[in-house]
Amino acid sequence: EQTIPNWLAKRTFLTPERIAVESSGHVWTYRELDERARTTAAKFACFGVREGDRVALLVKNGMHTVEIIHALHYIGAVLVPLNVRLSAGELAWQVTDADARLFVYDSSQEEKAKAVAEKVPGCEAVSWGTLASTAPGSGDPPLKRVMALDALHSIMYTSGTTGRPKGVMLTYGNHWWSAVSSALNLGLHTGDRWLACVPMFHMSGLSILIRSVIYGITLVVHESFQPDVVNRALMKEKVTIVSVVSAMLDRMVEQLGSSAYPETFRCMLLGGGPVPLPLLDKCLRKRIPVFQTYGLTETASQIATLPPEYMADKSGSAGKPLFPSELRIVADGKEQLPGQEGEIVVKGPTVTPGYWKRERATANTLRDGWLHTGDIGYVDEDGFLYVLDRRSDLIISGGENVYPAEVESHLTSHPAVREAGVTGVPHPRWGQVPVAFVSLKDDHAVSEEALRQYCREKLAKYKVPVRIHFVDKLPRNASNKLLRRELLKLL
Ligand code: AMP
Ligand code: MG
Ligand code: MG
Repeated sequence: EQTIPNWLAKRTFLTPERIAVESSGHVWTYRELDERARTTAAKFACFGVREGDRVALLVKNGMHTVEIIHALHYIGAVLVPLNVRLSAGELAWQVTDADARLFVYDSSQEEKAKAVAEKVPGCEAVSWGTLASTAPGSGDPPLKRVMALDALHSIMYTSGTTGRPKGVMLTYGNHWWSAVSSALNLGLHTGDRWLACVPMFHMSGLSILIRSVIYGITLVVHESFQPDVVNRALMKEKVTIVSVVSAMLDRMVEQLGSSAYPETFRCMLLGGGPVPLPLLDKCLRKRIPVFQTYGLTETASQIATLPPEYMADKSGSAGKPLFPSELRIVADGKEQLPGQEGEIVVKGPTVTPGYWKRERATANTLRDGWLHTGDIGYVDEDGFLYVLDRRSDLIISGGENVYPAEVESHLTSHPAVREAGVTGVPHPRWGQVPVAFVSLKDDHAVSEEALRQYCREKLAKYKVPVRIHFVDKLPRNASNKLLRRELLKLL
């Protein structure tokens, strides 16, 4: 069994005085972060958390987020990060599915957390405030000083074709290799400062937390994304790398106006979905060092990246697979030639071992070590990847994923609805937003507003269709499969 030293313990041993994390004026060195994480680990132990237990975490980005996650590493507990934008019902479902031992939330989530806790009586809920003020028990808990590379580190939920979310299992090894891949790609500079203004409950944010400790650089944390605040951090506060999605980049470029970023800023890591070409052109003209990426939660962040020197020649490409990873385009079981479309399949040490408690979904997705992404694309003569179409008709709205199947299954649970189809329409700010097409049962009636309200009660806001169109029937193929791409023709 291959092992790796506890990341924070090792980092603190190597460079204790470096700045580990910084957020709105607060600064901790690695030594300070390490002391806090150990103390918090002891408190987790008081709540009965043991190695392998799942701990669900509903918090915004902050210093505490970093402290809590490292504390979980010290216990060897499995992190289940929860998206603060989800509804109480959606969250309760994930907490239950993960079979969490403890559910931790911060003061920003108090109200929703209460609703979640009521729905999951079997899981103890504790606020960060309470946890932090708990006296650590007498006797030191056994802190994990080494981790097996194949030990489970986290379970991150994503949805899919079935409508119910699946927990993507990620190991210490997956995250370790993701950090190594990224460093081999972007390089590692002393004095690097990586800004996390993307949430740490998504892979993009969590990966920054993990990388910074492995690299020994500073993690700069913003609680939320504000274009002017982020731009100030890049212009004045020597941030060298920032991770963004295209809706964020768009607003940053707009806010930047005629100014330019300083030389110290070396990497705009752009992920989470496709990027409009006009935005890439604007960045090229402004000499913004954009690294376009392709990746999935299932690959522990990006698995392919386009470096800025190819921005002009390979505009719109998501680049080449990172060093330890392989990528192929497959159609009808055969690897495709350059220029031919097919499913994007990938393999490598960052690929998930599978979905939590979902053997069938795992076997369907992972075959001979190859992850079948469901995304469609092609690779050009030079090996650059172009993504053409997304899996499960995935809609990406402001960087958040909306799976049509999930929204459809909620809509059809309404007593008046016979069938529902959901698709994305372009939106100037969010990239895309969901719209729904619904046919009603005979002798049933419901208004558009009432149906949207029905969605708001159960679904995260970004999943609620901005329009619901009533139609006689939905477009289906011969085998009765919904043709989501034809929906807009009904308008
Ligand atoms: P997530 O699990 O949130 O990381 O979502 C992963 C999905 O985002 C992928 O399966 C793709 O459908 C989509 N995606 C990621 N990167 C890109 C890209 N560069 N272009 C188009 N779609 C992308
Ligand atoms: Mg996903
Ligand atoms: Mg995403």
